[in-house]
Amino acid sequence: MTEFNVIAAGSGNELPKRIFRARHFIDGTWRSSAAGKTVERCSPAHGGVVSRIALGGKAEVDAAIAAARRAFDKDGWPHLPGRERAAILLRVAQFIERDRDRIARMETLESGKPISQAEAEIEGAADLWRYAASLARTLHGDSHNSLGSDMLGLVLKEPVGVVSIITPWNFPFLIVSQKLPFALAAGCTAVVKPSELTPSTTVMLGELLAEAGIPPGVVNIVLGLGHPVGTAMTADARVNMVTFTGSTAVGKSIAATASATLKKVSLELGGKNPQVIFPDADLESAVDAIVFGVYFNAGECCNSGSRLIVHEGIAEEVLSRVVALSRKVPFGDPLDPETRVGAIISSAHHDKIDGYVRQAVGQGARLELGGQTFCVPGLDGQFYQPTVVSGLSADMAIARDEVFGPVLSVLNFRSFDEAIALVNDAEYGLSAGVWSDNVHTCLDFARKARAGTVWTNTWMDGFAELPFGGVRESGLGRELGRYGLEEFLEVKTVTMRVGHTRKPWVNVAPRT
Ligand code: NAD
Repeated sequence: MTEFNVIAAGSGNELPKRIFRARHFIDGTWRSSAAGKTVERCSPAHGGVVSRIALGGKAEVDAAIAAARRAFDKDGWPHLPGRERAAILLRVAQFIERDRDRIARMETLESGKPISQAEAEIEGAADLWRYAASLARTLHGDSHNSLGSDMLGLVLKEPVGVVSIITPWNFPFLIVSQKLPFALAAGCTAVVKPSELTPSTTVMLGELLAEAGIPPGVVNIVLGLGHPVGTAMTADARVNMVTFTGSTAVGKSIAATASATLKKVSLELGGKNPQVIFPDADLESAVDAIVFGVYFNAGECCNSGSRLIVHEGIAEEVLSRVVALSRKVPFGDPLDPETRVGAIISSAHHDKIDGYVRQAVGQGARLELGGQTFCVPGLDGQFYQPTVVSGLSADMAIARDEVFGPVLSVLNFRSFDEAIALVNDAEYGLSAGVWSDNVHTCLDFARKARAGTVWTNTWMDGFAELPFGGVRESGLGRELGRYGLEEFLEVKTVTMRVGHTRKPWVNVAPRT
């Protein structure tokens, strides 16, 4: 029996004949590495080489930070009118839309994600550049006019300075677009390091920035490994802030390194996000959202709804519906527009996912579906089956750790309080969802769940206007919305006396 809906390699979906050459973008020029090092990236779905990437080191980081420092301190980027910074961001948004297909195809080839999803992400990224442009024009501080007739207070918002931006492989173009346009809108300059596995679309973004007229040094892109490139971007005293998206382990090491020079740090880290289903929920909608939540981006998603917490009265029905729908999700060739779930980023990561499943089964968990590597006809990459695991206890690794694969862990509850206790029994706190037709249940849940985002009767809807980020080990700070701009701003207080009325501290009048 064909257990799953497999999309085999499509005809006409050959890999590009020309390998993309990704180089550093430093001080407005494209450069190879001083040491001449490169690395090749193969498509995780198709197996062939798709890009050749310059591998940078200390020399490139030094040059990039020096250029960003000069652009901030001397060349006037922070002092440009917001209107002029906004004009550049708007041009970038327009160019992203123009080049959507080219960028999306490269995103798919390096990450293994489905092409239709990549296209939607590139469109979403263009929207973020446009939204950030609106913030560049409306950014302002406060005034205090009620401090007394002789005093006026001003609260100025000023850019933080030079920002290091370090991004992961799972949403390369979207995540850099959650940070860079906001930093630029605030008046900061930047050094950007994409993941070594998926750097090419960030390089394409550099091309668009140059075309849009970004002044030299305002945005620099250095390619390479976490160490030495990311570590140097974090340790250098000339950098004022590090904004990082990636694993909690690396986030902690970045916070530790940055503390030596007391840099501002913003961290978007992992999650083990629960969806809680109450008996009065619209089950059809909930089941679709559970399947979407866990398989979207092959589960390689910080917002993956990887923990299903379902009321025991409906657990059997929900589980059988989730398993049935999981079989219908189109898994396979990411270049096919029908595909919903593509390849796993690397064979090492595939093995890590499989390790969690094997360990859980060894500890007595029930495999309801999947749990194995997946062969897609005609493709040479690594895929993992849609997988559902039940019969878990909340202390098992598969129920607590971020598996980062298409693996759903199922737990049950009896009462509202028990559900909340399970939700909050976690190191992470990125997002949580509740499904119920009772608005009181949803509101009570939203207040009690320890998470940066709560979805009620929906999952993973995001908007440029709404802040995003985590609590506890899911991170520090927020992206998107007005708060996403505030991260890149310092606050300066200006206290002014009006008139010549200051009461002297030293009384100089002669004693009588
Ligand atoms: P990762 O932490 O391994 O790497 C992320 C980036 O950091 C890469 O560019 C890497 O080269 C760099 N890096 C590695 N070591 C470094 C160091 N010591 N100093 C500085 N930089 C270093 O993460 P990943 O495997 O690329 O991405 C997956 C992780 O990202 C998951 O944990 C996921 O939850 C998280 N993530 C979080 C969000 C969010 O918004 N909360 C979004 C997407 C991904």
